[in-house]
This record gives sequence, structure tokens and C-alpha cells, in this order.
Amino acid sequence: MILLDGKATSNKIKEEIAIEVQELTKSGIRAPHLAAILVGDNGASLTYVNAKVKACAKAGFESTLVTLPLDISEDGLLNEIEKLNTNPEIDGFIVQLPLPKHIDEQKVLMAVNPDKDVDGFHPTNVGKMALNLPTFLPATPFGILELLERYKVETSGKHVVVIGRSHIVGSPMSILMSQKRAAGNATVTITHSRTKNLKEITLQADIIVAALGIPEFLTADMVKDGVTVIDVGITRIEDKTKKNGFRLAGDVHFESVSKKSNFITPVPGGVGPMTIAMLMKNTLLAAKRRG
Ligand code: NAD
Repeated sequence: MILLDGKATSNKIKEEIAIEVQELTKSGIRAPHLAAILVGDNGASLTYVNAKVKACAKAGFESTLVTLPLDISEDGLLNEIEKLNTNPEIDGFIVQLPLPKHIDEQKVLMAVNPDKDVDGFHPTNVGKMALNLPTFLPATPFGILELLERYKVETSGKHVVVIGRSHIVGSPMSILMSQKRAAGNATVTITHSRTKNLKEITLQADIIVAALGIPEFLTADMVKDGVTVIDVGITRIEDKTKKNGFRLAGDVHFESVSKKSNFITPVPGGVGPMTIAMLMKNTLLAAKRRG
């Protein structure tokens, strides 16, 4: 079994990005600038946003965190987005999800200028992604492609089973891996909460991407020997023995599934750190386009 080490791989990517940033600034182009909007003070969202901001600083990016109160109106948030859309100093920005219930998430994502949409969630960028045109790929699927590529996991002609059909992970993952590209050319089955006989399907998979958000859902009896397993899930589980009061659980029962796997990602330290690195890659791309 080979561990697909997202932490080490993302550190390497961040070093590569830092070198590119140095080269840009040496040639007189200013460093990439990523902004993040955080509404409210949800613990997990705050952790993710802070990790993104910290990683940016380390690679020589400029970063700006815009924190807004939980009760901000939809118009108030749209106004903040417009400020970032028109601010020439900002190359790319993200709106940290989830948003409070009184705000229409779709409306917010549609308001982001597609040229600054480094999360790749705007319909224009989703459309380009689906057509395999150059664009910002959504960071989590992009990170998974990069991890598979760097570890030289063969995907061409393989059967990939994706569990989950969300717009940010499952759905783009299934599109990307079916395309003619590195870490693509696979035969993809996308499954979801209404799928019948899931186990029969996962048992046929050469590669499984588990992105459903149910801790330790994928167990050893659901996979064949030699499988590659990508665990996207991150769920906080109360754990009084931990300093912060919780532990992170993936969607895969790692202990048993890893025994049957050729390649597998751990949680934490797998897909999560790759997501941040790819967000930075997208922001670097936005800065290069600006020139
Ligand atoms: P989501 O809640 O939007 O979607 C879950 C999907 O799982 C749905 O499409 C649903 O149909 C499917 N599903 C639910 N129960 C199922 C079942 N019993 N069998 C088959 N399919 C089932 O989730 P999401 O936003 O895609 O996130 C999934 C998980 O990945 C969460 O734990 C989330 O925290 C994590 N996540 C991690 C990263 C990262 O960077 N590592 C990024 C995004 C999401």
C-alpha cells in the first residue's frame, strides 16, 4: 500500500508556486493577491480560511480576509463582492461556504467575476471545465487529479466510481476524470444517495473517490484488492481526548480499506492540503493572466 501523501505533495507544489512568485516579482510584476470572504464565525470555516491565508503569505502572495457579520444581508454581501470584482489589486477571491440560510448561495456565486473566480464555481467556469477548455478548475477535484498524476496512478481505461454528486466535488470529479487529460481517460460511474446496490458498483472500481460526508462509510467489504481510494470526506467528530475537542474523520474506514488498497489518501493529510495548494495555483494563474 502506498500512501498518497497530500501534505508532502502540497508542500512541494507550494514551494514550486513560491519560486514562480519570486520570478514574477523579480520581473516587475506584483505578487498574486487572493482575497477571501468569510460570513460569520463558524469554527470549521474559520480554520479553512485561516489555513488558506497563511499558505498564501508563506508563498509570497498578498492576501486579504474580509470578515462579515452572520446577519449581513444578501445585498450587503453582494456589495462586498462587487468591491472585490472591481478592485484591480485583487487577482482572485473566494466566498467561503456554507453561507447562512438567508443568503442565496447560487446568487452569490453568480455575482463573482468569472475572471477572479479562483474556486471555479461560476457557471461560466463550470461550463468551460465541462468542455475541457482552459479555466479555473474547482480546487478539490483539481487537487485529486494532481495527486493521482504526481504518484503516477494509472487512470486511463480504469473504472472510477465517484460517491457523491455535489457541485464542488463529486460532479466535477466525474466530468474531469472522464475527459481526455492527465489523470483522466477513465470510465466513470457517479453514484449518490439514490443509488441502488452501491456495494456491487464499488466492488467493480479500480479507483474510488468517496465524497459523501459520512464518516467511515466505505468499508473493506465494498472494495476489491488493489483498489485506489481517494477519501474526500472531512467530518468533525467530538473527541474529548483532543485539545480542540474533536478529531477529523474521512468517508473511508482507513484501517481496513488500506489493507486492500494499492494507493490510498489519509484523513487528515490527503485531499485537504491539496485543495489549498490548487486554490493558490488558480490564483497564480489569475495573476499571470493580469501580467
Ligand atoms: P454534499 O453534502 O454537498 O454532498 C454529499 C453527496 O453524497 C450528495 O451528492 C449525496 O447524494 C451523496 N450521498 C449521501 N449519502 C449517500 C449514500 N449513503 N450513498 C451514496 N451517496 C450518498 O457534500 P460535499 O460538499 O461534496 O462534501 C462531501 C465531504 O467532503 C464532506 O465531508 C466535506 O466536508 C468534504 N469536503 C472536503 C474537501 C477537502 O478539501 N478535503 C472539500 C470539499 C468537501
